[in-house]
Amino acid sequence: MSDDRNRLGFLQPATQFPPKIGLRSPAAPLLLAAVTDQSFFPTSEILGARGDQQSAFHERAADTRTRRFGRQVFLRGVVEVSNYCRENCSYCGMRRDNRQLSRFRAQFNQLAELLIQFRPASITDLNIQTGEDPVVIRELVLPLVELLRRETPLGVSVCLGTLNKSLYRELRSAGASIYIIKFEIADPRLYTRMRAPGTFRERVEHIRLLAHSGWNVSSGFIAGLPDQTDADLLANFALARELPLDGCSVSPFIPGDETPLSGAPTADIDLTLNCMAALRLMRPDWVIPAVSALNLAEPGCGYGRGLRTGANLVTINLTPSELRGDYLLYKRDRFIMTEERILSAISAEGLIPSKQSLAGFYQQRKIDRLLSRSRTVEAAAV
Ligand code: SF4
Repeated sequence: MSDDRNRLGFLQPATQFPPKIGLRSPAAPLLLAAVTDQSFFPTSEILGARGDQQSAFHERAADTRTRRFGRQVFLRGVVEVSNYCRENCSYCGMRRDNRQLSRFRAQFNQLAELLIQFRPASITDLNIQTGEDPVVIRELVLPLVELLRRETPLGVSVCLGTLNKSLYRELRSAGASIYIIKFEIADPRLYTRMRAPGTFRERVEHIRLLAHSGWNVSSGFIAGLPDQTDADLLANFALARELPLDGCSVSPFIPGDETPLSGAPTADIDLTLNCMAALRLMRPDWVIPAVSALNLAEPGCGYGRGLRTGANLVTINLTPSELRGDYLLYKRDRFIMTEERILSAISAEGLIPSKQSLAGFYQQRKIDRLLSRSRTVEAAAV
């Protein structure tokens, strides 16, 4: 190992080795090479980095984000429109076996008024999220997507679980373009043991199906689950790398109230942040969110640290306050990311809200890629 590298093979901070995008010599530094040719893949040692090594690693990831996306982060609103769920994931308080939870479906008129007249000016996109509740799709989600596309400039994302092809088509026709569907756990045995949604195979098939039918797909996995081995954790990166994704999240495991895992320990925030940094280095052009659960894993600073690992998407919670408490992904005592908290968190990191919507960004990127491909074909034909 050269003197320029630390114990994990990372380079010393970027100031000493200015990045040269597009260049790779045999002596190219390990992480610089990863940033430029997407060959980076984490090891257990990297995911276990702490102290100065971890800081240098996160700095590299944040620099990579800045080179690809500048200082801009996408700002999306989310509304949680139903907490009914037909699934029974062991790590989630909205699982169907939780009989203590009072279930709700939001009212169309209430959401319409909120989103058309009173939404924060800073958001460019809206995500509509539910438990896996096909009933609410027809009753509320489809008309809401149509309304938003007709009455606002917002890009529309949905996070609705595994549905059927016909509902996916109707949602696309209504104007949604981004589907968030986390694979949650890449090891099929752990997936089954945690009773994650449906079957592992079906989940992965649906991710591919959605991407191949024109959706921009963002997925995600959980770090720090009970019994998750190093190999299980690394399998998440291997699967994410293979899937046709535009983005991916890492959620720290939080022992949810009213779940079979309520007594298990919370995920290690450092492990979670290292996973986020590794994702950024593995796929520099992905959109990677800072999830609000980072502040449950490390109250007060988890979220800010997430932004420092190269995240470039933040979410403002717009669920009507009387419904939020029953959207029990983790704990009843939720840490709600309001517009004020989000703007102050990103400003503290020297980041600024993107004026372009995430949906618009993806659309532009598709066009650019098509043009670039057609130019390559033309050049080859000359
Ligand atoms: S994680 Fe999603 S699918 Fe699983 S129980 Fe919770 S809301 Fe339902």
